[in-house]
Amino acid sequence: MAGIYIHIPFCKQACHYCDFHFSTSLKHKSRLLGALQVELRLRSAELKGEAVQSLYFGGGTPSILEIWELRALMDVVNEHYTLSDSPEITVEANPDDLSLEKLENLKQIGVNRLSIGVQSFFGQDLKLMNRAHNAVEAEQCLSYATQLFDNITLDLIYGMPQMDAERWLANIEKALSFNVPHISAYALTVEPQTALARFIDKGKMAPLNEAAAEKHYRILRKVLLQAGFENYEFSNFGKPGYHSKANTGYWTGKPYLGIGPSAHSYNGKHRSWNVAHNIKYCQAIEQGQLPSETEILTPIDRFNEKIMVGLRLAQGISLAEITDEFGTGTTQRLLEDSKKPIQSGLLEEVNGRLRVTDQGRFLTDGIASDLFSVHLD
Ligand code: SF4
Repeated sequence: MAGIYIHIPFCKQACHYCDFHFSTSLKHKSRLLGALQVELRLRSAELKGEAVQSLYFGGGTPSILEIWELRALMDVVNEHYTLSDSPEITVEANPDDLSLEKLENLKQIGVNRLSIGVQSFFGQDLKLMNRAHNAVEAEQCLSYATQLFDNITLDLIYGMPQMDAERWLANIEKALSFNVPHISAYALTVEPQTALARFIDKGKMAPLNEAAAEKHYRILRKVLLQAGFENYEFSNFGKPGYHSKANTGYWTGKPYLGIGPSAHSYNGKHRSWNVAHNIKYCQAIEQGQLPSETEILTPIDRFNEKIMVGLRLAQGISLAEITDEFGTGTTQRLLEDSKKPIQSGLLEEVNGRLRVTDQGRFLTDGIASDLFSVHLD
């Protein structure tokens, strides 16, 4: 089973915290969409013999596209790839794009999962982030979307300046009131070269408060677990049967093809990524070349990645899999390095798996990096 990710690098406006690849000019949209179709055709042999179980339109803002533009991309996928019997077909969408008519059309062309970038139901948070939608649109689109789609995930952001625990809890409760089966929640982070980083540097905004973010995460986990969600990955909460096939594929090492500028691909051995520049991407594709760089993962890269991804997953890291792939010496050293976080109550070994405890959960990335290796035994 494999996945296809198609990057739509356009947005109406730049959110203050975002460092993804996108352009706010639609001048080259049709040229770029043509190039995406060509790349899909050029690379179809890479997934020969693999059934595609997830097709994901991400960005950027895929919902900025007209329905016929999305449909044309889906037609190329259908023509050149083998989809599994019940593929997950996700479109990332922003609330201001989701009219009832747009939603009906998305459903009609075969989209069966929506990932809606709500981020917050409060106007002050949306303004601070420079989101293109307002609080009314956030609620309105969900009331429309839930009439037509069963499989909906929404994104929320916590740890924002001036967001107290009450407002964060109200955000979660508002999300739950729409009965969506999946929620992804991310701590606001300050990426270099973003407006948010500049505001903080210039003292226009207070630095982010890690302790507040941790408190928000604990509230999130408690409320969503009580509501019947499974926290199957650090930032992802799904009701049974609604875990994301696309993300689960990435985390469990399934191959995926990343189409479009800045998109990453993985084939089990090599990771590659396309140039993060719309014009350079189009020029290369129009000359029949793939504008990508490739990295061959060393055993150390694969080990460290397994630790990082594995600890973020609820199931943790299988020690048997580490032994199979890297040998008993590596497993022994991993267990040796794990003693300290186990004694501190941050990590536990249960049924042959290493996983973070409730106490360690918010510190997952730090615990993982302490277990990284610079050489394998
Ligand atoms: S809509 Fe999404 S991709 Fe576009 S700027 Fe905002 S966060 Fe970034």
